[in-house]
Amino acid sequence: MTWKLIPEDSKQALRLKRFLMAALAYALWLGLAIYCYFLGLLAVSGTALALVVVLVIATNLAWFMLFRSGFNLRFSDPSLTLPQMVVGAFWAMLMVWATPQVRGSMLLLYTVLYLFGMFRLRRKQYLAFTLLTLVGYGLILIWDMHYRATPGMLRIELLQSGVLLVTLVWLAFFGSYIGRLREKLARRNQELGEALARNRELAIHDDLTGTYNRRYIVQVLEEESVRVRRTGRPFSICLLDLDHFKRINDQHGHLVGDDILRQFAEQVVSEIRAMDRMGRDGADQEVFARYGGEEFLLVLPETMAVGARTCAERIRNSIAAAQFTTETGSLSVSVSIGVTEHHSGEHIRDMLKRVDRALYRAKHAGRNRVESLAEE
Ligand code: GH3
Ligand code: MG
Ligand code: MG
Repeated sequence: MTWKLIPEDSKQALRLKRFLMAALAYALWLGLAIYCYFLGLLAVSGTALALVVVLVIATNLAWFMLFRSGFNLRFSDPSLTLPQMVVGAFWAMLMVWATPQVRGSMLLLYTVLYLFGMFRLRRKQYLAFTLLTLVGYGLILIWDMHYRATPGMLRIELLQSGVLLVTLVWLAFFGSYIGRLREKLARRNQELGEALARNRELAIHDDLTGTYNRRYIVQVLEEESVRVRRTGRPFSICLLDLDHFKRINDQHGHLVGDDILRQFAEQVVSEIRAMDRMGRDGADQEVFARYGGEEFLLVLPETMAVGARTCAERIRNSIAAAQFTTETGSLSVSVSIGVTEHHSGEHIRDMLKRVDRALYRAKHAGRNRVESLAEE
């Protein structure tokens, strides 16, 4: 495995990229400091500057190792935004301290730090950070008054501190506002994702019975027919139609009819599960769907007509023996089932026509029966 600068994990990659951006800012900052030194604007010796350069590089290497090793994950905020900003503020403070003649422009360094925290920090953290930078700046001013006091300077320094205060507080509020927006957006995204998943479920299920719907099972049939071409192992389908269902509606009302449909579907599903536990020969999961009205379709992957017939017989028996409790008392129903096997290369439509014919035969032969039809 080759070593990569940016890790695979997308979140860690983002953190490392942010750090690298900060590192680039540091490089520019060092360039600036060295330039100031040669212009004679830096109030420190060359040795001190060299020491700072080495220390800045060392702290950046330390950050890099923290992120690249994954050690940052041990912290409550693995982006380590605030710690990075505090260290940055220290270096910025040093720069501001060392350049009394061009202080006004050097104060801009603080805004870079604030922008770095824009997407992460909360208002309290921002305000704490503002307090820290202002205290640091205050210390520099006290130092200046003691060691570098020049006439008229105090007024300018005070003005600059005022501008700095206003800018930093504004940045703190604006930054935390953006941070909250980001959080809200992330929450919205998650809710949207969940709603989408829920919708997807709804789109493939039948409202009344909770089984799959026609749209979904037709899709399953298409997929199965493609798979048959690949594996050569056929699948079978059973078309189930409740017997004399109109009578149930007429005698007991539509609501009772609905109730029966629900309980019927439940019973079939539990029967299929029971067969699975006993090791039905089909290797893959069967799919049971409401095909329309009181008709249901069962897809049995990798199952031949003989196996499907046995399966259908079990379901028919189980339904015939069941008593469904409704508000008008206990009712029993029967189901007729047509069975057929898919033949390689045949169109789904032809298979559905055949299974319909098989069902018609079962009805004609007296109902509460299973009939299977092979390819003609
Ligand atoms: P058989 O299939 O045995 O020939 O008789 P049947 O009475 O079931 O015949 P048919 O398929 O013609 O009628 C189906 C009836 O099922 C018609 C309709 O009233 C009823 N039905 C269809 N969908 C629903 C539904 O969602 N809820 C209720 N309660 N009844 C439904
Ligand atoms: Mg019917
Ligand atoms: Mg029908």
